[in-house]
Amino acid sequence: MADAENRDRGQLRLSEDECKGCGLCVEACAFKVISLSEGLNHYGYRTAMYAGAGCSGCGICFLACPEPGAITVLRLRGTAAAHGRGRVISIPGAA
Ligand code: SF4
Ligand code: SF4
Repeated sequence: MADAENRDRGQLRLSEDECKGCGLCVEACAFKVISLSEGLNHYGYRTAMYAGAGCSGCGICFLACPEPGAITVLRLRGTAAAHGRGRVISIPGAA
């Protein structure tokens, strides 16, 4: 596992309304920074939650998610190559 200093190069935006609680993103994340909520959304699903730190910006969770719009990965500009799909977005930040 990479050191923590090599992480925090991404941020997640998770849509509680779009998430169906399948858990694929939780399984896919090598850094285990996604978990399922204890509570339920208005559809009755436990939804994905970001730990708030430790994301590398790799985008694997986005690729694993079957629900369009549930996950947006914000990747700090200058840290990794752009992913090339609409919901992995480079944002200004320290390189
Ligand atoms: S972008 Fe990568 S490191 Fe960040 S939460 Fe998704 S799978 Fe985990
Ligand atoms: S993979 Fe997508 S739908 Fe499944 S728990 Fe994660 S965000 Fe929700």
